[in-house]
Amino acid sequence: MALDFGGTKLAAGLADALTGEWLQTRRATTPAHANGSLAVIASMAEEMLSDAHLGAIGVSFGGHVDVRGASVRGSSIVSGWDNLPLGEWLTNRFGAPTRVINDGSAGALGEHSFGILAGTINAIYITVSTGVGGGFLLEGRPYLGTTGLAGEFGHLPVRNSQVRCKCGRVGCLEAIASGTAVAANARARLAGGAHSTLKGLPGVITAQDVSVHADSGDQLAQGLLWEAGAAIGEIASGLVTSFDPQRIAIGGGVAGAAEPFWTAIQDTFSGLARDGGTVTVVPAAHINDAPLYGALSIALQLAHGNIAPSLSLDTK
Ligand SMILES: [Zn+2]
Repeated sequence: MALDFGGTKLAAGLADALTGEWLQTRRATTPAHANGSLAVIASMAEEMLSDAHLGAIGVSFGGHVDVRGASVRGSSIVSGWDNLPLGEWLTNRFGAPTRVINDGSAGALGEHSFGILAGTINAIYITVSTGVGGGFLLEGRPYLGTTGLAGEFGHLPVRNSQVRCKCGRVGCLEAIASGTAVAANARARLAGGAHSTLKGLPGVITAQDVSVHADSGDQLAQGLLWEAGAAIGEIASGLVTSFDPQRIAIGGGVAGAAEPFWTAIQDTFSGLARDGGTVTVVPAAHINDAPLYGALSIALQLAHGNIAPSLSLDTK
């Protein structure tokens, strides 16, 4: 079974342990507190399981996870997750070995096992969604870092940016390129008197609105998507300099944004390339679901004894 605790959505999937094919999947909106998320995920899991024998549970969590894959350290979006032993909770509830991984690393693993990063040994996944994050696959394995915080690409600085990030610093990638930021920056420019077909839309402007209006030719919307794409291309180029990967995949809802988003990524990335252009930046195969596929990959490895569950690692 694969579970994905995201900042805006929860997902659960039951797969065949031999073929890895999905048997059932379920989705729900993320409640405001960890207790609500646990209740919703447990109920989705119970609905799917009925009489099925459960071999293992792989979990993607949108927040800080300890490197042993046992406990959640916290979430910047949903409250109540501080130092919660999620792996143990799930093992007790469902009687199966469990391992938890951060959603950025899960996305990298999901794209490596089932998507566009298949066949690579060194690769990077960047997710551009409510926030910006990502993960590494180095020497064929997920690289989680010393404390589990590797892949926090959202807080790498973009040159010449003066936008303040919610982390308190100025110029973070997330403050330009996340869906939240694209929408907020659109609202700020409209409030500053910019002309745009976005003006007068009912309700609060979203990144989806910006994408739709960019597609219809609105210059403000196109400019915002260009800035988001160019910032991602710049950071991707820096990651190539640091890690020398074979490929970089971009996932998350914003990765499906209208042009000029992808042109900006590619132009900026190739303009800064120093390797003669052998590394490619490509859309993820599972733009919205890469972390759930990563959770599935973990569950399959656990079920087949290729990795250890978090609880046995705890006893070392
Ligand atoms: Zn930041």
